Amino acid sequence: MKHIAVIPGDGIGKEVMEVGMDILDAVSEISSFDHDAEFFDIGSERYLKTGELVTEEEFDSLGRKDAIYFGAIGDPRVKPGILEQGILLNMRARFDQYINMRPVTSWHPFVPLKKHFDFDICFLRENTEDFYMGAGGVMRSGKKVEVNVKRMLYDLRMNVDPVSLPDDDFAFEIGLLSKRGVERFADHVFKTAEKRGEDKVTLVDKANVCTHIYGMQREIFSKKAEEHGISLDFMYVDAMAMAMIVRPHTFGTVAVPNLFGDILTDLGAQLQGGLGMGASGNINPEGVSMFEPIHGSAPDIAGQGKANPIAVVLAAKMMLDHLGYEEMGTLLRNAVRKCLDEGKSTPDLGGKLTTKEMGNEIKRAVLGL
Ligand code: ATP
Repeated sequence: MKHIAVIPGDGIGKEVMEVGMDILDAVSEISSFDHDAEFFDIGSERYLKTGELVTEEEFDSLGRKDAIYFGAIGDPRVKPGILEQGILLNMRARFDQYINMRPVTSWHPFVPLKKHFDFDICFLRENTEDFYMGAGGVMRSGKKVEVNVKRMLYDLRMNVDPVSLPDDDFAFEIGLLSKRGVERFADHVFKTAEKRGEDKVTLVDKANVCTHIYGMQREIFSKKAEEHGISLDFMYVDAMAMAMIVRPHTFGTVAVPNLFGDILTDLGAQLQGGLGMGASGNINPEGVSMFEPIHGSAPDIAGQGKANPIAVVLAAKMMLDHLGYEEMGTLLRNAVRKCLDEGKSTPDLGGKLTTKEMGNEIKRAVLGL
């Protein structure tokens, strides 16, 4: 029995999650995947009513689950950043979900490229370090700035103490990679490539400019590549952005640091057919992981039955793969493929089906009806 925490969240998160749960129930009906679901009322409504985001008891309870299935959060009535920081980022940090996994698959005919390429890229983005650590400040009047970075792996405190400061203010943002952080990331990357039956990993960086952090990352990845018996290609991030457009089919498992990963995976989301198709896993291989569609709460279409539920279904696919039910994961992916091949889709893809109708079509395909 797998214990799943379900957080529908806000806006279309709630609508697509109804489909997601329906599909998980269907999977349980036809396979050995047995699950129970506990719903958590986390999101903007509760925050606006009570000021609460996620309580300590909820964190404890979420931490005991096998996986977290997440819809979307966001609300125009709440100042940007509060829900994202207080819920999503907090959850990632709390459960040390140090890998962000984002598949980029050619969901034809929605791929916006002129040439027909078949691709299936697995982006693995490091989720806790690099330039997104919040390690920065502004040096004013020669005063030193204290920088604290607390992670599951370490608690780092340092002072940036100017020796000579011209008469100006200087803002800085430090990007850090720890040896242990890169090692555990690299291990997961190579294991993923092995699982996917690939003999090559691509590491994206900008080691010709940011020589220190990405130089160390290259060294560690090279060592790990040898250990795992898998070859390693290096790509600069600018070259990678171009290559994703002209030869996406040449990539398999791609490792990318936090900041570049944020940008490249959004490019990837559009390449595969848009926000309604993109799923994401925030993964801690030794702990509790969280699976979600990459889209937000989409207030502009919430409550209208227009949301595409494919992303939430593909998030369930990733969750099933992660929990060891790869066969069922593949079944979900094939069910989505079948529906699209038969021309069934929601308005964002040019179709006429409502969220629920699309969900029912996918469910029928899952059940083989
Ligand atoms: P956030 O900051 O939470 O990501 P956002 O408004 O930038 O919010 P989304 O909420 O993902 O991003 O919405 C962006 C656009 O994509 C909106 O026009 C929305 O209607 C559309 N969109 C997002 N997800 C879906 C979906 N599943 N089906 C159809 N359209 C979607």
